[in-house]
Amino acid sequence: WAKADGKARWTLFDPERNAHRMTRQALSSTLRQAVERGEFILEYQPLVGLDSGVLRGVEALVRWQHPHFGRLAPDRFIGLAEENGSIVQLGRWVLAESCRQARVWQKDHPDDPIFISVNVAVRQVWDSDLVADVAAILEETGLPPELLQLELTESAVMGSAGRPLQALHALSEMGVRIAIDDFGTGYSNLAYMSRLPVSALKLDGSFVQGFRSAEHPNPADETIVEALVELAHRLGLTVTAECVENAEQAERLRRIGCDTGQGWHYSRPVAAERISELLAG
Ligand code: C2E
Ligand code: MG
Ligand code: MG
Ligand code: MG
Repeated sequence: WAKADGKARWTLFDPERNAHRMTRQALSSTLRQAVERGEFILEYQPLVGLDSGVLRGVEALVRWQHPHFGRLAPDRFIGLAEENGSIVQLGRWVLAESCRQARVWQKDHPDDPIFISVNVAVRQVWDSDLVADVAAILEETGLPPELLQLELTESAVMGSAGRPLQALHALSEMGVRIAIDDFGTGYSNLAYMSRLPVSALKLDGSFVQGFRSAEHPNPADETIVEALVELAHRLGLTVTAECVENAEQAERLRRIGCDTGQGWHYSRPVAAERISELLAG
């Protein structure tokens, strides 16, 4: 206390920051056991055809049912799991559970197949044998590879020589589809993406949030989305818009020619049983 300068002193004795840091440490150090103890659950969010209104697929989103802290959103722990490497175990569980569930839906509704879209972290591509894991999980669950989509971020595939590139090609040869998540937040190199075995773009939510509204009378983002969709289609990619929150946004995206939408306008992420009800409905 005596020696530190003003700023450091404040940091050192701010109880709130200290509590935050301790929580992070507590979460980080228990992540691995949490996977073994089965403390994670998945919710599923619909991806809907903008033209047809038909349910095309669902994205699996992980939550941690923490014994002390309650239900935690992924932004509280995915970064920590990437830092300490436990994302590899967690990611493997997410993949297995997603494919198991998707296979149940496929068996129950063979005439209305929906795909499952699973988020894959950078480290799963670099530090684990993702291809072997996916192959084993598809084999165990019996899910057709065409019904599995993997979501990777641009940073995970950019400059991906060697291992990641081989992995993408192997997965795509298996019939698994690759989507670029949060497209538009990073390098957004569409020319580069088109040379990879990528079949879909998920436009980051910030685009739709920048659509025309009372606060934004000049819809620059709408023009950008229109151009992106057109270019993506010419390159053979399908496009999903994230964060579709109202009917007006859905209608604009439909007119622009975007393929699918995902967001609160259609549904929040929900429990598997809700998706089953939707399919049965
Ligand atoms: P993401 O993959 O871009 O997932 C979409 C996020 O947007 C989800 O947040 C979803 O709940 C939220 N969202 C959906 N519709 C709307 C909307 O209309 N408005 C707004 N404002 N938000 C909407 P969530 O579930 O908190 O997940 C956050 C991020 O955590 C995900 O972003 C993904 O990067 C990561 N994540 C989630 N599950 C996994 C996982 O199993 N593995 C990995 N590696 N990352 C995951
Ligand atoms: Mg995603
Ligand atoms: Mg996303
Ligand atoms: Mg996002």
